[in-house]
Amino acid sequence: MTVLINFKICDNAQECSGIEACPTGAIYWNSDDKKITIDNSKCISCMRCEEACPSEAIRVGKNKTEYEAIKKEFNEDPRKISDLFVDRYGAQPIDVEALIKEENVENIINTSNMPVLIEFFEDDSIECLRRSNTISKLIPGEKIIYKKVELREKSLIDKYNISKLPSLLLFEKGAIEGKIEGFYDTEHFEELKGKLLEIINKANNEVNEDCPCTWPGCPRHGKCNECQEDHHSLGQETCCGK
Ligand code: SF4
Ligand code: SF4
Repeated sequence: MTVLINFKICDNAQECSGIEACPTGAIYWNSDDKKITIDNSKCISCMRCEEACPSEAIRVGKNKTEYEAIKKEFNEDPRKISDLFVDRYGAQPIDVEALIKEENVENIINTSNMPVLIEFFEDDSIECLRRSNTISKLIPGEKIIYKKVELREKSLIDKYNISKLPSLLLFEKGAIEGKIEGFYDTEHFEELKGKLLEIINKANNEVNEDCPCTWPGCPRHGKCNECQEDHHSLGQETCCGK
């Protein structure tokens, strides 16, 4: 039995779901090498690690033929690990420019003439990159400043009444315009995006004149899949039911 990891699509996170799922410790975090490591002698082929990895980076070869086929597939995989290393909500910061210190938060939110979106996190709230949503895809084209801050003291948690980490807070001229608390994984991309657009639109005070709904912050406008007109959607998809 051989467990393989495709490191072309794995961020090698200590918070790996495969490690969490493994009942025998066969897949574990090697703190010396700082790497997810496999001890195949402990593997009982339960497949839980394979099922737990959201990016299908972990595969279990049950015999030599399967092992060779998986190895070949991984070798020929054209994806690159660098594609994964962009800033994502809930994950380890990638862009050091976006990372600010606690003591600089107030200065940035008070002096910026653009809305500032700040992600608050702590060591324990960091999730796997693969499970986390890319910030640039969540707020495409939005004129806002995005920063991340690691909380080491409780003062900002108390000050901004944060109950769960990670949290996204949108500030405009020093005041909180909206807050999204807790982690949203890639399966909840649309939900997170909708919540973000709602608070951004509210901060920008944008009203879509074409929309029949009366909610000024409505994030769900778009071309209807059925009638091809622009209108408010009933759910995640814009579908007819005006
Ligand atoms: S869960 Fe994340 S860290 Fe673990 S193998 Fe999959 S991609 Fe890698
Ligand atoms: S197949 Fe089961 S025992 Fe083997 S590494 Fe994966 S989770 Fe652990």
